[in-house]
Amino acid sequence: MKTTTDLRITPKRLGLIEVETFCERCFWYRLHLRFREPFSFFGGAIFKNMEQAEMAIIGAFLEKDGKLPKEFAPFCEVVGRVEYPRHWTKYKYVLDSGVELYGEPDDIFEFADGSIAVIDHKTAQAKGVGDPLLPCYEIQVIGYGFIAEFGLLLGEVSRGGLLYWSANHEIVIAEPDKFYRNQKLWMPFTPKPHPIAIDYKRLEAPLKRAVELWEAKTPPARTEKCQDCQKFDALLAIEAEVQKQLNLNDQIVLSGTGNNSWALNQVTRRAYIETSARSSAMRDLLDEASDLTFASDGVMANWEAGYDGGF
Ligand SMILES: [Zn+2]
Repeated sequence: MKTTTDLRITPKRLGLIEVETFCERCFWYRLHLRFREPFSFFGGAIFKNMEQAEMAIIGAFLEKDGKLPKEFAPFCEVVGRVEYPRHWTKYKYVLDSGVELYGEPDDIFEFADGSIAVIDHKTAQAKGVGDPLLPCYEIQVIGYGFIAEFGLLLGEVSRGGLLYWSANHEIVIAEPDKFYRNQKLWMPFTPKPHPIAIDYKRLEAPLKRAVELWEAKTPPARTEKCQDCQKFDALLAIEAEVQKQLNLNDQIVLSGTGNNSWALNQVTRRAYIETSARSSAMRDLLDEASDLTFASDGVMANWEAGYDGGF
């Protein structure tokens, strides 16, 4: 193995290594293939909107009271927000090993003693210690803290945590007319903090494993226990078929125009649209026939957008 590596990874991806059902073959493929999945798992916009609303609530409390109400314990004593670069290209830290840890947290707060807290908002039911993804989230927050403290020199990270915002859909379902007012559905969300101890030593093992998998030129052997590996293989086969066909069509179009750049641009755009459309049609078909959903606590379903084209 090389002494330095060019691995670039987000703390969340790193954290997947710590999940009990971790599959190193899935992880290897996710690291090595610039695989832009033709399927999406979440309605991204609504989560983004929720996060903006959650941050606005926090901001309003800090402005009005200079602290947070008791339900935000142990983060009540924060005195303000810390300014930091809110972009993955700037929120990063290159370790001595060569690993570039990148990816920014949702919020960083400051305490009166000058230390800071790194927070990730989760619009989800707070499962707490029973959540199989909790070790992943812990590494995620510790990793953000590591970048904040040593990469960006924002201050000592004395605390970290998740701030769950859990939908109270049960009470809405029980009494719908109470929650429909002025032509709007008012869905209540309850904040529930989950503190995470900032122990940077916990980053060592997953960093070592991630580098090993990044430097490995061939994928780890398939294990029988990982269902995601089988599903992923099926998707790869479909994707390869689609690409082969598209490339052939495009070659014909391009050679007819003498390979000019306008034609190349058009072909690229059309290829993208066609790939997306075919893949989503294929997914619908497969969804009906069999369960092609990746495990909710696995590498595949939780791979965060990043340098490999997810943005
Ligand atoms: Zn797998």
